[in-house]
Amino acid sequence: MKKKTSLRLQLIGILLGFVVLLMGTVYFVQTTFLDDFYRINKIKSIESVGKSVAEQIGDSDFEDIVERAGMTNEVCIRVVSNNSAYSYTGACTLRGLDNSIINLIAQETMESADGEKLFDDFRYQRRPDENPEKVFIYSKFITYNNEPVMVLVSTAITPLSATISTLKSQYFLISIALIVMTVVLALIISRIILRPVKQISEESRNLSRGEYDGTRVRTDSREMSELNETLIRANEDIQKADKAKKELLGNVSHDLRTPLTMIVGYGEMIRDLPEENTEENLNVIIEEAKRLSTLVDDLIDISKIDTAGVELNKEDIRLNALLEDVYHQYQKYCESQDIDFSLKLSEDDPLVNIDIKRIKQILYNFINNSLNYNSKKKQKIILGTEKMDDVYRVYVYDNGEGIEAKDIQNIWDRYYKVDKEHRRHHIGSGIGLSLSRDLLNAHGLNYGVESEPKKYSRFYFDIPGKQ
Ligand code: ADP
Repeated sequence: MKKKTSLRLQLIGILLGFVVLLMGTVYFVQTTFLDDFYRINKIKSIESVGKSVAEQIGDSDFEDIVERAGMTNEVCIRVVSNNSAYSYTGACTLRGLDNSIINLIAQETMESADGEKLFDDFRYQRRPDENPEKVFIYSKFITYNNEPVMVLVSTAITPLSATISTLKSQYFLISIALIVMTVVLALIISRIILRPVKQISEESRNLSRGEYDGTRVRTDSREMSELNETLIRANEDIQKADKAKKELLGNVSHDLRTPLTMIVGYGEMIRDLPEENTEENLNVIIEEAKRLSTLVDDLIDISKIDTAGVELNKEDIRLNALLEDVYHQYQKYCESQDIDFSLKLSEDDPLVNIDIKRIKQILYNFINNSLNYNSKKKQKIILGTEKMDDVYRVYVYDNGEGIEAKDIQNIWDRYYKVDKEHRRHHIGSGIGLSLSRDLLNAHGLNYGVESEPKKYSRFYFDIPGKQ
Protein backbone atom coordinates (compact mmCIF):
# COMPACT_ATOMS: atom_id res chain seq x y z
CA MET A 1 0.00 0.00 0.00
CA LYS A 2 1.25 3.48 -0.84
CA LYS A 3 2.60 5.22 2.25
CA LYS A 4 0.19 7.98 3.25
CA THR A 5 1.28 11.48 4.27
CA SER A 6 0.64 12.37 7.90
CA LEU A 7 -2.13 14.85 8.69
CA ARG A 8 0.42 17.19 10.28
CA LEU A 9 2.45 17.43 7.06
CA GLN A 10 -0.72 17.90 5.03
CA LEU A 11 -1.78 20.74 7.32
CA ILE A 12 1.65 22.44 7.04
CA GLY A 13 1.50 21.98 3.26
CA ILE A 14 -1.96 23.53 2.96
CA LEU A 15 -1.13 26.53 5.17
CA LEU A 16 2.20 27.15 3.40
CA GLY A 17 0.47 26.93 0.04
CA PHE A 18 -2.03 29.52 1.23
CA VAL A 19 0.71 31.90 2.45
CA VAL A 20 2.68 31.59 -0.79
CA LEU A 21 -0.45 32.22 -2.85
CA LEU A 22 -1.40 35.22 -0.73
CA MET A 23 2.06 36.81 -0.77
CA GLY A 24 2.44 36.06 -4.47
CA THR A 25 -0.83 37.80 -5.29
CA VAL A 26 0.03 40.87 -3.19
CA TYR A 27 3.53 41.00 -4.69
CA PHE A 28 2.25 40.74 -8.24
CA VAL A 29 -0.45 43.35 -7.78
CA GLN A 30 1.87 45.80 -6.02
CA THR A 31 4.83 45.57 -8.38
CA THR A 32 2.81 45.49 -11.58
CA PHE A 33 0.05 47.94 -10.87
CA LEU A 34 1.61 50.29 -8.30
CA ASP A 35 2.48 52.84 -11.00
CA ASP A 36 -1.07 52.84 -12.37
CA PHE A 37 -2.65 53.15 -8.92
CA TYR A 38 -0.34 56.03 -8.15
CA ARG A 39 -1.22 57.89 -11.37
CA ILE A 40 -4.94 57.37 -10.92
CA ASN A 41 -4.78 58.62 -7.34
CA LYS A 42 -2.81 61.72 -8.28
CA ILE A 43 -5.20 62.57 -11.11
CA LYS A 44 -8.23 62.11 -8.84
CA SER A 45 -6.65 64.31 -6.24
CA ILE A 46 -5.87 67.29 -8.55
CA GLU A 47 -9.27 67.05 -10.20
CA SER A 48 -11.14 67.21 -6.91
CA VAL A 49 -8.99 70.04 -5.55
CA GLY A 50 -9.46 71.99 -8.80
CA LYS A 51 -13.24 71.62 -8.70
CA SER A 52 -13.52 72.56 -5.06
CA VAL A 53 -11.33 75.66 -5.47
CA ALA A 54 -13.32 76.71 -8.55
CA GLU A 55 -16.54 76.54 -6.52
CA GLN A 56 -15.18 78.80 -3.81
CA ILE A 57 -13.93 81.69 -5.98
CA GLY A 58 -15.18 84.94 -4.54
CA ASP A 59 -15.21 83.74 -0.92
CA SER A 60 -13.77 86.34 1.42
CA ASP A 61 -11.02 84.00 2.63
CA PHE A 62 -10.30 82.63 -0.81
CA GLU A 63 -6.58 83.06 -0.43
CA ASP A 64 -6.54 80.97 2.74
CA ILE A 65 -8.67 78.33 1.06
CA VAL A 66 -6.20 78.02 -1.79
CA GLU A 67 -3.28 77.91 0.58
CA ARG A 68 -4.83 75.20 2.74
CA ALA A 69 -5.98 73.08 -0.19
CA GLY A 70 -2.49 73.23 -1.67
CA MET A 71 -0.82 72.20 1.59
CA THR A 72 -3.12 69.42 2.68
CA ASN A 73 -3.22 67.76 -0.74
CA GLU A 74 0.40 68.47 -1.60
CA VAL A 75 -0.53 70.07 -4.89
CA CYS A 76 0.18 73.35 -6.50
CA ILE A 77 -2.69 75.75 -7.34
CA ARG A 78 -2.83 78.82 -9.55
CA VAL A 79 -5.89 80.91 -10.27
CA VAL A 80 -5.59 83.06 -13.39
CA SER A 81 -7.90 85.89 -14.38
CA ASN A 82 -7.86 89.28 -16.00
CA ASN A 83 -8.96 90.77 -12.71
CA SER A 84 -5.86 90.89 -10.57
CA ALA A 85 -7.95 90.41 -7.41
CA TYR A 86 -8.29 86.73 -8.24
CA SER A 87 -4.86 86.14 -9.56
CA TYR A 88 -3.15 83.92 -7.09
CA THR A 89 -0.42 81.34 -7.17
CA GLY A 90 0.77 79.03 -4.43
CA ALA A 91 4.50 78.43 -4.12
CA CYS A 92 5.14 75.76 -6.73
CA THR A 93 5.71 74.65 -10.28
CA LEU A 94 2.89 76.63 -11.75
CA ARG A 95 4.35 79.92 -10.57
CA GLY A 96 7.23 79.64 -13.01
CA LEU A 97 5.10 78.90 -16.07
CA ASP A 98 5.49 81.39 -18.87
CA ASN A 99 2.48 83.37 -19.90
CA SER A 100 2.79 81.84 -23.35
CA ILE A 101 2.34 78.35 -21.84
CA ILE A 102 -0.51 79.57 -19.64
CA ASN A 103 -2.22 80.92 -22.73
CA LEU A 104 -1.74 77.63 -24.52
CA ILE A 105 -3.29 75.73 -21.61
CA ALA A 106 -6.13 78.26 -21.45
CA GLN A 107 -6.83 77.88 -25.12
CA GLU A 108 -6.91 74.07 -25.02
CA THR A 109 -9.12 74.14 -21.93
CA MET A 110 -11.59 76.53 -23.48
CA GLU A 111 -11.81 74.37 -26.54
CA SER A 112 -12.64 71.27 -24.52
CA ALA A 113 -16.31 70.45 -24.29
CA ASP A 114 -16.94 70.91 -20.55
CA GLY A 115 -14.39 73.61 -19.86
CA GLU A 116 -11.87 71.40 -18.09
CA LYS A 117 -8.79 69.47 -19.19
CA LEU A 118 -6.18 67.13 -17.85
CA PHE A 119 -2.57 67.32 -19.08
CA ASP A 120 -1.01 64.05 -18.00
CA ASP A 121 2.23 64.22 -19.92
CA PHE A 122 3.44 67.70 -19.17
CA ARG A 123 7.19 68.30 -18.85
CA TYR A 124 8.32 71.28 -16.86
CA GLN A 125 11.90 72.53 -16.88
CA ARG A 126 12.74 74.87 -13.96
CA ARG A 127 16.11 75.87 -15.33
CA PRO A 128 17.73 75.18 -18.67
CA ASP A 129 20.47 73.03 -17.05
CA GLU A 130 18.01 70.80 -15.17
CA ASN A 131 16.21 67.70 -16.47
CA PRO A 132 12.56 68.36 -17.25
CA GLU A 133 10.18 67.33 -14.43
CA LYS A 134 7.07 65.30 -15.18
CA VAL A 135 3.86 66.91 -13.91
CA PHE A 136 0.10 66.44 -14.18
CA ILE A 137 -1.91 69.59 -14.66
CA TYR A 138 -5.66 69.92 -14.31
CA SER A 139 -7.28 73.09 -15.60
CA LYS A 140 -10.85 74.33 -15.30
CA PHE A 141 -12.57 77.38 -16.66
CA ILE A 142 -15.43 79.16 -14.91
CA THR A 143 -17.07 82.50 -15.30
CA TYR A 144 -17.18 84.75 -12.25
CA ASN A 145 -18.73 88.23 -12.36
CA ASN A 146 -18.77 87.92 -16.14
CA GLU A 147 -15.05 87.40 -16.12
CA PRO A 148 -13.40 84.17 -17.27
CA VAL A 149 -11.33 82.64 -14.48
CA MET A 150 -9.05 79.58 -14.89
CA VAL A 151 -8.06 77.31 -12.01
CA LEU A 152 -4.90 75.29 -12.53
CA VAL A 153 -3.83 72.48 -10.20
CA SER A 154 -0.65 70.51 -10.70
CA THR A 155 1.30 67.78 -8.99
CA ALA A 156 4.74 66.38 -9.58
CA ILE A 157 5.16 62.73 -10.47
CA THR A 158 7.91 60.89 -8.65
CA PRO A 159 9.39 57.81 -10.33
CA LEU A 160 8.37 54.71 -8.31
CA SER A 161 11.18 52.33 -9.16
CA ALA A 162 12.96 53.03 -5.86
CA THR A 163 9.77 52.40 -3.89
CA ILE A 164 9.12 49.16 -5.75
CA SER A 165 12.58 47.80 -5.07
CA THR A 166 12.17 48.68 -1.36
CA LEU A 167 8.87 46.83 -1.38
CA LYS A 168 10.47 43.79 -3.01
CA SER A 169 13.09 43.42 -0.33
CA GLN A 170 10.40 43.94 2.32
CA TYR A 171 8.30 41.20 0.76
CA PHE A 172 11.20 38.83 1.02
CA LEU A 173 11.55 39.43 4.77
CA ILE A 174 7.80 39.34 5.40
CA SER A 175 7.52 36.07 3.49
CA ILE A 176 10.21 34.39 5.58
CA ALA A 177 8.55 35.61 8.80
CA LEU A 178 5.15 34.38 7.58
CA ILE A 179 6.49 30.96 6.62
CA VAL A 180 8.02 30.52 10.08
CA MET A 181 4.76 31.64 11.71
CA THR A 182 2.76 29.27 9.50
CA VAL A 183 4.83 26.27 10.46
CA VAL A 184 4.48 27.16 14.15
CA LEU A 185 0.72 27.68 13.72
CA ALA A 186 0.34 24.38 11.88
CA LEU A 187 2.18 22.59 14.68
CA ILE A 188 -0.08 24.18 17.31
CA ILE A 189 -3.26 23.31 15.38
CA SER A 190 -2.10 19.80 14.72
CA ARG A 191 -1.34 19.35 18.40
CA ILE A 192 -4.85 20.47 19.36
CA ILE A 193 -6.62 18.38 16.73
CA LEU A 194 -4.32 15.49 16.08
CA ARG A 195 -3.35 14.46 19.58
CA PRO A 196 -6.83 13.08 20.43
CA VAL A 197 -7.08 11.54 16.96
CA LYS A 198 -3.80 9.74 17.57
CA GLN A 199 -4.90 8.60 21.02
CA ILE A 200 -8.22 7.35 19.68
CA SER A 201 -6.56 5.62 16.78
CA GLU A 202 -4.02 3.91 19.07
CA GLU A 203 -6.72 2.81 21.48
CA SER A 204 -9.06 1.60 18.76
CA ARG A 205 -6.56 -1.10 17.88
CA ASN A 206 -8.02 -2.85 20.93
CA LEU A 207 -11.58 -2.44 19.66
CA SER A 208 -11.72 -5.75 17.83
CA ARG A 209 -10.94 -7.50 21.14
CA GLY A 210 -13.65 -5.47 22.89
CA GLU A 211 -11.00 -3.71 24.98
CA TYR A 212 -11.49 -0.05 24.01
CA ASP A 213 -12.26 1.98 27.13
CA GLY A 214 -11.50 5.52 25.83
CA THR A 215 -10.45 6.84 29.24
CA ARG A 216 -6.97 7.83 28.10
CA VAL A 217 -8.30 10.09 25.33
CA ARG A 218 -7.83 13.75 26.37
CA THR A 219 -9.77 16.30 24.38
CA ASP A 220 -11.80 19.46 24.86
CA SER A 221 -13.42 19.30 21.45
CA ARG A 222 -17.02 18.16 21.15
CA GLU A 223 -16.46 16.22 17.93
CA MET A 224 -13.60 14.18 19.35
CA SER A 225 -15.56 13.45 22.52
CA GLU A 226 -18.49 12.26 20.40
CA LEU A 227 -16.21 10.02 18.37
CA ASN A 228 -14.77 8.63 21.57
CA GLU A 229 -18.28 8.01 22.96
CA THR A 230 -19.30 6.25 19.75
CA LEU A 231 -16.31 3.96 19.98
CA ILE A 232 -17.00 3.24 23.63
CA ARG A 233 -20.56 2.23 22.69
CA ALA A 234 -19.29 0.14 19.76
CA ASN A 235 -16.95 -1.55 22.20
CA GLU A 236 -19.89 -2.39 24.50
CA ASP A 237 -21.80 -3.82 21.53
CA ILE A 238 -18.82 -5.96 20.58
CA GLN A 239 -18.59 -7.26 24.14
CA LYS A 240 -22.33 -8.05 24.14
CA ALA A 241 -22.11 -9.79 20.78
CA ASP A 242 -19.11 -11.74 21.96
CA LYS A 243 -20.92 -12.86 25.11
CA ALA A 244 -24.02 -13.75 23.11
CA LYS A 245 -21.93 -15.75 20.66
CA LYS A 246 -20.40 -17.74 23.50
CA GLU A 247 -23.83 -18.32 25.05
CA LEU A 248 -25.29 -19.37 21.73
CA LEU A 249 -22.48 -21.82 21.15
CA GLY A 250 -23.09 -23.25 24.60
CA ASN A 251 -26.86 -23.48 24.06
CA VAL A 252 -26.67 -24.86 20.58
CA SER A 253 -24.17 -27.53 21.53
CA HIS A 254 -26.43 -28.44 24.42
CA ASP A 255 -29.43 -28.61 22.10
CA LEU A 256 -27.49 -30.71 19.63
CA ARG A 257 -26.12 -33.08 22.22
CA THR A 258 -29.45 -34.03 23.86
CA PRO A 259 -31.17 -35.44 20.76
CA LEU A 260 -27.92 -37.01 19.63
CA THR A 261 -27.54 -38.82 22.96
CA MET A 262 -31.11 -40.07 22.64
CA ILE A 263 -30.60 -41.22 19.06
CA VAL A 264 -27.35 -43.02 19.88
CA GLY A 265 -28.82 -44.53 23.08
CA TYR A 266 -32.02 -45.81 21.45
CA GLY A 267 -30.10 -47.03 18.37
CA GLU A 268 -27.67 -49.05 20.50
CA MET A 269 -30.52 -50.43 22.58
CA ILE A 270 -32.37 -51.66 19.46
CA ARG A 271 -29.15 -53.14 18.08
CA ASP A 272 -28.32 -55.00 21.31
CA LEU A 273 -31.84 -55.99 22.39
CA PRO A 274 -33.89 -57.14 19.37
CA GLU A 275 -37.07 -57.17 21.48
CA GLU A 276 -36.70 -53.37 21.92
CA ASN A 277 -37.09 -52.89 18.17
CA THR A 278 -40.58 -51.49 18.65
CA GLU A 279 -42.43 -48.79 16.73
CA GLU A 280 -42.45 -46.62 19.81
CA ASN A 281 -38.66 -46.71 20.19
CA LEU A 282 -38.10 -46.09 16.51
CA ASN A 283 -40.46 -43.10 16.74
CA VAL A 284 -38.29 -41.63 19.49
CA ILE A 285 -35.29 -41.84 17.17
CA ILE A 286 -37.26 -40.24 14.32
CA GLU A 287 -38.64 -37.45 16.55
CA GLU A 288 -35.19 -36.62 17.91
CA ALA A 289 -33.73 -36.58 14.40
CA LYS A 290 -36.53 -34.20 13.33
CA ARG A 291 -35.74 -31.92 16.22
CA LEU A 292 -32.12 -31.84 15.16
CA SER A 293 -33.15 -30.97 11.65
CA THR A 294 -35.38 -28.08 12.87
CA LEU A 295 -32.53 -26.73 14.95
CA VAL A 296 -30.14 -26.82 12.01
CA ASP A 297 -32.77 -25.16 9.77
CA ASP A 298 -33.22 -22.33 12.24
CA LEU A 299 -29.50 -21.81 12.54
CA ILE A 300 -29.17 -21.67 8.77
CA ASP A 301 -32.07 -19.18 8.60
CA ILE A 302 -30.51 -16.93 11.21
CA SER A 303 -27.15 -16.87 9.49
CA LYS A 304 -28.80 -16.25 6.11
CA ILE A 305 -30.75 -13.30 7.51
CA ASP A 306 -27.57 -11.94 9.09
CA THR A 307 -25.65 -12.03 5.86
CA ALA A 308 -28.21 -11.45 3.11
CA GLY A 309 -31.34 -10.13 4.85
CA VAL A 310 -34.75 -11.79 4.49
CA GLU A 311 -36.00 -12.71 1.07
CA LEU A 312 -39.79 -13.07 0.95
CA ASN A 313 -41.80 -15.15 -1.43
CA LYS A 314 -45.27 -13.61 -1.10
CA GLU A 315 -48.49 -15.26 -2.24
CA ASP A 316 -52.22 -14.65 -1.72
CA ILE A 317 -53.95 -16.98 0.72
CA ARG A 318 -57.12 -17.00 2.84
CA LEU A 319 -56.11 -16.31 6.41
CA ASN A 320 -58.44 -18.95 7.90
CA ALA A 321 -57.04 -21.67 5.66
CA LEU A 322 -53.55 -20.82 6.77
CA LEU A 323 -54.45 -21.00 10.46
CA GLU A 324 -56.37 -24.25 10.02
CA ASP A 325 -53.26 -25.75 8.48
CA VAL A 326 -51.12 -24.72 11.42
CA TYR A 327 -53.76 -25.93 13.87
CA HIS A 328 -53.86 -29.42 12.31
CA GLN A 329 -50.10 -29.74 12.66
CA TYR A 330 -50.42 -29.60 16.44
CA GLN A 331 -53.89 -31.03 17.03
CA LYS A 332 -52.85 -34.70 17.42
CA TYR A 333 -49.84 -33.92 19.53
CA CYS A 334 -51.89 -31.79 21.90
CA GLU A 335 -54.63 -34.41 22.22
CA SER A 336 -52.01 -37.00 23.11
CA GLN A 337 -50.59 -34.68 25.78
CA ASP A 338 -54.02 -33.73 27.13
CA ILE A 339 -53.52 -30.09 26.16
CA ASP A 340 -56.61 -27.97 25.49
CA PHE A 341 -55.68 -26.55 22.08
CA SER A 342 -58.37 -24.66 20.18
CA LEU A 343 -58.79 -22.58 17.04
CA LYS A 344 -60.85 -19.34 17.10
CA LEU A 345 -61.31 -17.74 13.70
CA SER A 346 -62.88 -14.37 12.98
CA GLU A 347 -66.00 -14.42 10.86
CA ASP A 348 -64.54 -12.73 7.82
CA ASP A 349 -61.96 -14.71 6.03
CA PRO A 350 -59.67 -12.07 4.45
CA LEU A 351 -57.31 -12.68 1.61
CA VAL A 352 -53.78 -11.85 2.70
CA ASN A 353 -50.54 -11.48 0.80
CA ILE A 354 -47.70 -13.09 2.73
CA ASP A 355 -44.80 -15.50 2.55
CA ILE A 356 -46.81 -18.53 3.71
CA LYS A 357 -43.84 -20.63 4.78
CA ARG A 358 -42.39 -17.77 6.85
CA ILE A 359 -45.67 -16.82 8.55
CA LYS A 360 -46.25 -20.49 9.43
CA GLN A 361 -42.72 -20.60 10.84
CA ILE A 362 -43.59 -17.67 13.13
CA LEU A 363 -46.79 -19.33 14.32
CA TYR A 364 -44.98 -22.64 14.95
CA ASN A 365 -42.50 -20.74 17.03
CA PHE A 366 -45.23 -19.02 19.08
CA ILE A 367 -47.01 -22.35 19.65
CA ASN A 368 -43.78 -24.19 20.51
CA ASN A 369 -43.05 -21.53 23.10
CA SER A 370 -46.58 -21.90 24.53
CA LEU A 371 -45.95 -25.63 24.84
CA ASN A 372 -42.53 -25.08 26.42
CA TYR A 373 -43.25 -22.34 28.91
CA ASN A 374 -46.26 -23.95 30.55
CA SER A 375 -47.21 -23.92 34.19
CA LYS A 376 -48.16 -27.00 36.18
CA LYS A 377 -51.92 -26.52 35.69
CA LYS A 378 -53.86 -27.90 32.72
CA GLN A 379 -52.39 -26.37 29.60
CA LYS A 380 -54.63 -24.25 27.41
CA ILE A 381 -53.55 -22.82 24.07
CA ILE A 382 -55.62 -20.80 21.60
CA LEU A 383 -54.67 -20.02 18.02
CA GLY A 384 -56.96 -17.31 16.69
CA THR A 385 -57.71 -14.20 14.65
CA GLU A 386 -59.77 -11.16 15.45
CA LYS A 387 -60.76 -8.18 13.39
CA MET A 388 -59.23 -4.89 14.53
CA ASP A 389 -59.91 -1.51 12.87
CA ASP A 390 -58.24 -2.09 9.56
CA VAL A 391 -56.16 -5.19 10.18
CA TYR A 392 -56.59 -8.79 11.34
CA ARG A 393 -54.78 -9.72 14.52
CA VAL A 394 -53.40 -13.25 14.53
CA TYR A 395 -52.53 -14.47 18.04
CA VAL A 396 -51.37 -17.42 20.08
CA TYR A 397 -52.64 -17.41 23.65
CA ASP A 398 -51.49 -19.69 26.45
CA ASN A 399 -52.21 -19.92 30.17
CA GLY A 400 -48.57 -20.72 30.89
CA GLU A 401 -45.92 -19.14 33.07
CA GLY A 402 -46.16 -15.66 31.49
CA ILE A 403 -43.38 -13.11 31.15
CA GLU A 404 -42.15 -10.56 33.69
CA ALA A 405 -42.52 -6.89 32.64
CA LYS A 406 -38.74 -6.38 32.78
CA ASP A 407 -38.18 -9.16 30.23
CA ILE A 408 -40.92 -8.22 27.75
CA GLN A 409 -38.73 -5.70 25.86
CA ASN A 410 -35.87 -8.14 25.56
CA ILE A 411 -37.38 -11.46 24.57
CA TRP A 412 -37.29 -10.46 20.87
CA ASP A 413 -33.54 -9.87 21.07
CA ARG A 414 -31.31 -12.46 19.57
CA TYR A 415 -30.10 -15.06 22.11
CA TYR A 416 -32.08 -13.46 24.96
CA LYS A 417 -33.26 -15.95 27.50
CA VAL A 418 -35.34 -15.25 30.53
CA ASP A 419 -34.04 -18.29 32.30
CA LYS A 420 -30.41 -18.44 33.12
CA GLU A 421 -30.51 -22.19 33.06
CA HIS A 422 -31.08 -23.50 29.56
CA ARG A 423 -34.18 -25.59 29.11
CA ARG A 424 -34.72 -28.39 26.79
CA HIS A 425 -37.55 -27.67 24.35
CA HIS A 426 -40.22 -30.04 23.26
CA ILE A 427 -39.84 -28.92 19.70
CA GLY A 428 -37.86 -25.95 18.28
CA SER A 429 -34.47 -24.47 18.62
CA GLY A 430 -34.47 -21.54 21.05
CA ILE A 431 -33.64 -18.61 18.81
CA GLY A 432 -37.19 -18.45 17.60
CA LEU A 433 -38.44 -15.02 18.68
CA SER A 434 -35.59 -13.08 17.16
CA LEU A 435 -36.06 -15.02 13.93
CA SER A 436 -39.80 -14.26 14.11
CA ARG A 437 -39.04 -10.57 14.67
CA ASP A 438 -36.81 -10.44 11.58
CA LEU A 439 -39.47 -12.15 9.47
CA LEU A 440 -42.26 -9.87 10.75
CA ASN A 441 -40.14 -6.78 10.14
CA ALA A 442 -39.44 -7.99 6.63
CA HIS A 443 -43.21 -8.25 6.07
CA GLY A 444 -43.63 -4.79 7.63
CA LEU A 445 -46.18 -6.13 10.14
CA ASN A 446 -46.92 -4.76 13.57
CA TYR A 447 -46.34 -7.34 16.34
CA GLY A 448 -46.11 -7.68 20.09
CA VAL A 449 -46.90 -9.59 23.23
CA GLU A 450 -49.23 -9.13 26.18
CA SER A 451 -48.58 -11.12 29.31
CA GLU A 452 -49.04 -11.44 33.02
CA PRO A 453 -46.57 -13.55 34.97
CA LYS A 454 -47.99 -16.89 36.13
CA LYS A 455 -51.22 -16.20 34.23
CA TYR A 456 -50.98 -15.92 30.48
CA SER A 457 -49.06 -14.83 27.38
CA ARG A 458 -50.53 -13.69 24.10
CA PHE A 459 -48.17 -13.24 21.17
CA TYR A 460 -49.63 -11.52 18.10
CA PHE A 461 -49.08 -9.81 14.77
CA ASP A 462 -51.43 -7.76 12.57
CA ILE A 463 -52.02 -8.51 8.90
CA PRO A 464 -53.92 -6.15 6.59
CA GLY A 465 -56.59 -7.81 4.42
CA LYS A 466 -56.02 -7.52 0.69
CA GLN A 467 -58.31 -4.94 -0.97
P1 ADP B 1 -36.15 -19.82 23.67
O1 ADP B 1 -37.54 -20.32 23.65
O2 ADP B 1 -35.18 -20.79 23.12
O3 ADP B 1 -35.68 -19.29 24.95
P2 ADP B 1 -37.28 -17.65 22.12
O4 ADP B 1 -36.62 -16.58 21.35
O5 ADP B 1 -38.34 -18.43 21.41
O6 ADP B 1 -36.11 -18.60 22.64
O7 ADP B 1 -37.91 -17.00 23.41
C1 ADP B 1 -37.21 -16.09 24.18
C2 ADP B 1 -37.69 -16.10 25.62
O8 ADP B 1 -39.00 -15.56 25.69
C3 ADP B 1 -37.79 -17.46 26.22
O9 ADP B 1 -36.57 -17.81 26.83
C4 ADP B 1 -38.91 -17.35 27.23
O10 ADP B 1 -38.37 -16.96 28.47
C5 ADP B 1 -39.77 -16.21 26.72
N1 ADP B 1 -41.02 -16.73 26.14
C6 ADP B 1 -41.28 -16.90 24.83
N2 ADP B 1 -42.54 -17.36 24.66
C7 ADP B 1 -43.10 -17.47 25.90
C8 ADP B 1 -44.39 -17.90 26.38
N3 ADP B 1 -45.37 -18.28 25.58
N4 ADP B 1 -44.59 -17.87 27.73
C9 ADP B 1 -43.62 -17.48 28.56
N5 ADP B 1 -42.39 -17.07 28.16
C10 ADP B 1 -42.12 -17.07 26.84
